[in-house]
Amino acid sequence: MDAQLTALGLDEAFRFACGPEVACFNDCCRDLNQALTPYDVLRLKRGLGVPSGRFLAEFTRRHTGPGSGLPVVTLAPSDPETLVCPFVSAAGCRVYPDRPASCRTYPLVRSVRRYRETGAAVASYFILTEPHCRGFGGNRTQSARQWTADQGIGDYNTENDRMMEVISLKNGLRRGPLSPSSAEGVYTALYDLDAFRRRLFDDGVAAESGVGEDLLEAARHDELALLRAGLEWVKQLLERTFARWTVALCRCRIRDTG
Ligand code: SF4
Ligand code: SF4
Repeated sequence: MDAQLTALGLDEAFRFACGPEVACFNDCCRDLNQALTPYDVLRLKRGLGVPSGRFLAEFTRRHTGPGSGLPVVTLAPSDPETLVCPFVSAAGCRVYPDRPASCRTYPLVRSVRRYRETGAAVASYFILTEPHCRGFGGNRTQSARQWTADQGIGDYNTENDRMMEVISLKNGLRRGPLSPSSAEGVYTALYDLDAFRRRLFDDGVAAESGVGEDLLEAARHDELALLRAGLEWVKQLLERTFARWTVALCRCRIRDTG
């Protein structure tokens, strides 16, 4: 049987139970190709009690999103053959309270559509049935709404939807890679929060960052506010960069046709 994706209403019941008692325990923590969102990185580095730079160097790899051209971070497997997650142990997930959103959400898949006119976001749910996962044979039933609450996914969805806004903005402005210096700035603002804090407040970038004063003040002491400031800073950078592009393109077209 191949993997199957089936639409699921928010209050529709599905049968699933996972834990040390299932025969496939930890199987889904191997053969890893797992992207981390900025909020995933914040939670993991805070849970492990390490600076963001060290977390990124030890546990992640950096890529460029094939469509958006934005920096993307994935978990670095601890074994190149089995692609096993660096946080899995015989007893289960070593970072369970701060595990990434995708680990929490499985076997559900959440898709978000945003209305252009109002900006309102509407989430849809699907259930992903995969042959290796034995969790579907259990006798526990719940709805997507209950699963989201039980797994503590609400805060993750809120912050990850903010990141989706950044990706949508980039795709709407211009697809493809950023310049190396912009890519470095975006990576720092989204993922390397300790370095971003230093850039903002020690290097004096805060005053001209375009981020609101209240958010900046909160970002001095609060990592979640710092991440939101980073997302805001990235939006402003993208708008400035691609507004210049549009002007330059218009000038070229005028020259070509003039
Ligand atoms: S973070 Fe935890 S739950 Fe997610 S793949 Fe790694 S060990 Fe598994
Ligand atoms: S494969 Fe499915 S049932 Fe098995 S540990 Fe992973 S999520 Fe749980």
